[in-house]
Amino acid sequence: MAIPKWNTPSRQAHLVDLFLDSGGFCVFGHKPCPNPEHHYVNYIEGLIADWQADDRAQARAVWQTERLRLHSLGERRYPLRGQFNNISQDIFFWQSAPILPRRASR
Ligand SMILES: [Zn+2]
Repeated sequence: MAIPKWNTPSRQAHLVDLFLDSGGFCVFGHKPCPNPEHHYVNYIEGLIADWQADDRAQARAVWQTERLRLHSLGERRYPLRGQFNNISQDIFFWQSAPILPRRASR
């Protein structure tokens, strides 16, 4: 059986700590506890859902970064400042110059 993605060693350790601290009852140590959401089993359900949401957000961020990187590959970059210093200017006009037909030499 595959280990779920959210189940990293540090998270697993956190769940074990929670269980040991709570004894399987209220994770906040209330005795008695007025809130069933604090019960270990219920609490970790929400915690795991949060982790899964974190992982999805993380995966999205990685994907977006990768996409930006890929999209920028074909684009020529100019320095923000000094775009029209002599060299940049030459490159700029050289690139944007129409290709002129050369006069045929006889
Ligand atoms: Zn409680």
